[in-house]
Amino acid sequence: MKLFNTYSRSKERFLPKGKTVGFYTCGPTVYAPPHIGNYRTYVWEDVIRRYLGHCGWKIRHVMNITDLDDIVLREAKKKGVGWKRLARKYEKVFLKEKRSLGCLDAQAYPRASEHVLGMARLAQKLLRKGHAYKDEKGDVYFDISKFGLYGKLSHFSPVMKAKKKISRQDYWQHEAGDFILWIKCRANGSGACWNTPLGYGRPAWNIECPAMSMKYLGEEFDIHMGGTDNVFSHHENEIAVAKCATGKGFVRYWMHVKHLLLNGKKMSKSKGNVIVLADLLQRGYSAREVRAALLSVHYRRRMNFTLARMERIAQYVRRVGTALRRVEKAAQKGAYAENARELAAAKRKGKDALECFEYNMNDDFNAPHVMLHCCNLVCWADGKAKIRKLGRKSALLVLKTVREMNSVLNVLEI
Ligand SMILES: [Zn+2]
Repeated sequence: MKLFNTYSRSKERFLPKGKTVGFYTCGPTVYAPPHIGNYRTYVWEDVIRRYLGHCGWKIRHVMNITDLDDIVLREAKKKGVGWKRLARKYEKVFLKEKRSLGCLDAQAYPRASEHVLGMARLAQKLLRKGHAYKDEKGDVYFDISKFGLYGKLSHFSPVMKAKKKISRQDYWQHEAGDFILWIKCRANGSGACWNTPLGYGRPAWNIECPAMSMKYLGEEFDIHMGGTDNVFSHHENEIAVAKCATGKGFVRYWMHVKHLLLNGKKMSKSKGNVIVLADLLQRGYSAREVRAALLSVHYRRRMNFTLARMERIAQYVRRVGTALRRVEKAAQKGAYAENARELAAAKRKGKDALECFEYNMNDDFNAPHVMLHCCNLVCWADGKAKIRKLGRKSALLVLKTVREMNSVLNVLEI
């Protein structure tokens, strides 16, 4: 099986280190309901995880919940509620919606706020090793000039004319600089401050994920995934933190899901150009149809989401569903006595479909192509069912094959 590794910018054969694949996916920042662009990433991560399982690997999937971040604290303050209350509310929304989209649960959902001590220790380790420094205010920064590989993931070479410190956690591509790891609390206004060996304060986003991923998956693990907007700076910074702290390789395969545009434009709350799952459910689409729509474009291609596309995919899923019901009927009480030649044809069709499924999924998870081929098999069987020429054995065989493919894609009710 080959997958595209952002780190090497090439398709590589997937060879996990141990028996269990360590799979870390950056989870949501819980201050509002995720939009469908976020869910595109989570749904693709689910398909990739399921396919690894289909290939026989055991998976340990960890997804963090970012409940401790500038944006959560800011939103809570704006709304006049406690940050924890706000975070728990949207964590619940996220988990419920993700499940409704047919995604398997991660084995662990560590919350940042419950791992503060580990994060403080990690920052301390970097201070001790000379990779980080405390500024005059007591905040801790990572010194990117001391890490020669900085920029390797994003292929971005920082120009370090003058030492630049970036204390905001959400900065842009042109803003490479020493990034913040730890924020010293001067007054306990937000309540999000902890007493740690590093002092009274709270961690910044970029130290959260490396601390939690290494705690749950070890200092080296196989796959780290997220949206493409995480490549720089979040994942670049994660690599710097983890590699400098441990001296080990950290992650073997970095995978990223490209942006989703809404009607050709970047989704932006302030411009009102946002769609959340609830909007689509309200329009009468099922979560499964939304899942199919989000999978209809390969994860490494940018997807333009429009209602026209949503409608087209939903109709397709319904059509295949109706066809499947007829095949199911034939499997239950099909009276047609098929001959050996017809059964052999069904077997061949099923084998072809599975081969096609594995061939395409082995090539960096080409699920959109599989979705079309899955239909071919169903349509073929349905064609025979309609003229009452589908035997019971053939129907069962087709259903078994479709079930196997659907255990990865999970876009059909079967
Ligand atoms: Zn992360």
